[in-house]
Amino acid sequence: MPTYARADLAFERGEGVYLFTADGRRYLDFAAGVAVNALGHCHPRLVKALTEQAGRVWHTSNLYRVPGQEKVAARLVERTFADTVFFCNSGAEALECSIKMARRFHYVAGNPRRTRIICAEGAFHGRTLATVAAGGQKKHMEGFAPVVEGFDHVPFGNLNALRAAITEETAAILVEPVQGEGGIVPGDPDYLRRLRATADEFGLLLIFDEVQTGMGRTGTLFAHQQAGVAPDIMGVAKGLGGGFPVGACLATEKAASGMVAGTHGSTFGGNPLAMAVAGEVLSVMDEPGFLEHVQAMGVLLRARVEETAARFPGVVDEVRGLGLMLGFKPRMPNTEMVARLAGGGLLTVGAGDNIVRLLPPLIIDENHVDEAVGILARVFDEVK
Ligand SMILES: *Cc1c(COP(=O)(O)O)cnc(C)c1O
Repeated sequence: MPTYARADLAFERGEGVYLFTADGRRYLDFAAGVAVNALGHCHPRLVKALTEQAGRVWHTSNLYRVPGQEKVAARLVERTFADTVFFCNSGAEALECSIKMARRFHYVAGNPRRTRIICAEGAFHGRTLATVAAGGQKKHMEGFAPVVEGFDHVPFGNLNALRAAITEETAAILVEPVQGEGGIVPGDPDYLRRLRATADEFGLLLIFDEVQTGMGRTGTLFAHQQAGVAPDIMGVAKGLGGGFPVGACLATEKAASGMVAGTHGSTFGGNPLAMAVAGEVLSVMDEPGFLEHVQAMGVLLRARVEETAARFPGVVDEVRGLGLMLGFKPRMPNTEMVARLAGGGLLTVGAGDNIVRLLPPLIIDENHVDEAVGILARVFDEVK
């Protein structure tokens, strides 16, 4: 179905930070499948993990124990606030699980009227009926009525508005620590900490959507860890499988207390192929220095993009972001800038607020930064 405004580009092969078309053109991939290819393309360790698993067993369903799930869950639990994990196949499903869990928590606690979730304006949580309602973007809901009930929206970053929206029916607060699709809008660490305090004050669950910010993207395994605050529930996907479709919903034992056998499920969720790859992604990210490298590259890329933007003040208004989740705001439509950069050999992604996102694989080095900035400078010079 023509549901995408696709660029007329098709890739035959990927290697590290590069993608290649069938006619041999090479692209520096700072889109990374929209923050998915965290370890670049065809990382040898991921290829090995996937192909080895493919020769053993692909799928058994959740009728049985899946040892890979137990291993990946143990790893995620060890590295986060969470005690328990549900595996699914996408970000939207991770958020569906989060939403269901929050409602169910209050239901089993004897508060069945506490069903509503306070979300942020400009949010993005996926394209299912519940997650478009949580995102609250009119353009994603138009023509798909009736809208799933139970989501209230307040401006992102405004704690007073959020507190004023709390009623006796409120179950949870749901935000992205850095809004991604909305246009790379980092939540202030102090705001994130106050969300925690507010949730505690009113007995609400705090849900972080780390589908885009998670898995090292912002320089820590999860973005909220930089603010020194922990949610009760968290949705993860995108980078988790490094390109293999997999999602996860992490939670504390308490938040998940209503999720007993039969309350939720997925045929494919956490299948052995997905778990083999996700386990290896986590192993690579666990290596000493991996996240420090992301931090260093984030600082370098940002500084170089800012410097380049400053040389072309008529072209770019602003650079913002966290770690390797960066965005800049061109004066021209972002779609045109993305197309021009692709023409120059650099893949980027548009976002809300006319932002062009730079979401490179986390394994980039200084040469890739040089190359990307060189292409930015050429294109900025062309359009200035
Ligand atoms: C991409 C994204 C989603 C949706 O993930 P899908 O895998 O496309 O369903 C949800 N939340 C955030 C923050 C995202 O960036």
